Amino acid sequence: MRKFIDVGMENKKRIALVAHDNKKQDLMEWAKFNRVNLGNHEIFATGTTGKLLEEGLGLKVNRLKSGPLGGDQQIGAKISESEIDVLIFFWDPLEPQPHDPDVKALLRIAVVWNIPIACNRASADFIFSSPLMKEKYSRIVLDYNDYLKRSI
Ligand code: PGA
Repeated sequence: MRKFIDVGMENKKRIALVAHDNKKQDLMEWAKFNRVNLGNHEIFATGTTGKLLEEGLGLKVNRLKSGPLGGDQQIGAKISESEIDVLIFFWDPLEPQPHDPDVKALLRIAVVWNIPIACNRASADFIFSSPLMKEKYSRIVLDYNDYLKRSI
């Protein structure tokens, strides 16, 4: 039988925001609309996205490296350390990126750790309008101990 562990989320969420260049305007418009709500949470972002959020909206942002320089991987590492609760990642479906492997890795690790992910504005709206954004939440994650104890 599969076992799960419970990784709690607090009322105040740690939200990672990332947007590819062609999606930055989209993200900024969305973030402007949700400015007050975003201010109630702790924000992390890749370098350039974070700079835009700070300068454009006056948000306090924990800025990581720019995405292609390792920022996506830094966010992935934080997710696996349970330091990020929600990922808003507006990736560009129409243009290849130099860091495509990092993009795939970030999306994968977000699924491994069962965190909510929004890859477009509609999904981000649905996540942000959820009452769970303001409440504690029991995020269940598959107990990977069986995997760690596998015979090799
Ligand atoms: P950036 O990175 O915010 O530094 O532009 C985003 C990305 O391409 O992952």
